[in-house]
Amino acid sequence: MIKDDCIFCKIANGNIPSYCLYEDNYFKVVLDIEPSSKGHGLIIPKSHADNLFMLDEETASRALIIAKKVSPAIMEVLGCDGMNLLQNNGEAAGQTINHFHIHLIPRYKNDSVGIKWNKNSLSKEWAEKFVSEIKENIK
Ligand code: AMP
Ligand code: ZN
Repeated sequence: MIKDDCIFCKIANGNIPSYCLYEDNYFKVVLDIEPSSKGHGLIIPKSHADNLFMLDEETASRALIIAKKVSPAIMEVLGCDGMNLLQNNGEAAGQTINHFHIHLIPRYKNDSVGIKWNKNSLSKEWAEKFVSEIKENIK
C-alpha cells in the first residue's frame, strides 16, 4: 500500500529523487538528507506502514536482513568504527516521518553523534511485577 501524502512512500517508490545505496522489490536504502554522521542511511520499505507495529512480520524480518547486508559495505567504504541501528516509533521516541524506517548511523571514534541515556537503578520489586505483566500481555 502506498500513501499519497507520505514522503517516504514517494522516496521508496522513486517519485522523489534520493541518493540510493540499495534497492530491491521491497525496499530502498537512501542517504538521510540531514545526516547525523557521514554515510547516515535510511532503510525504507516501499509499502507504507506507520511504524514497526503496523509492519507485517515478513517486511520487518527483511528490514533487518537488509541492515546486515548494506551496513558492512558502508563500513568498508567509509572506514568507520561502528554502526548504530536506530528505529523510532512515535513522536515521543523521536519519529518525525510516520513511515517505518531504520536509521543506519555510521560511528567514528570521538564523533559527536548523541545516542546516549542516563543510567538509572532497577528495583527488584518493580522488575518482578513488570515481568509478570508483560508475560500476560505478549500476543
Ligand atoms: P525519524 O526522526 O526517525 O522519523 O527520521 C526521519 C529522518 O528522515 C530524519 O533523519 C530526516 O533527516 C530524514 N529525512 C527527511 N526528509 C528526507 C528526504 N527527503 N530524504 C532523505 N531523508 C529525509
Ligand atoms: Zn509511506
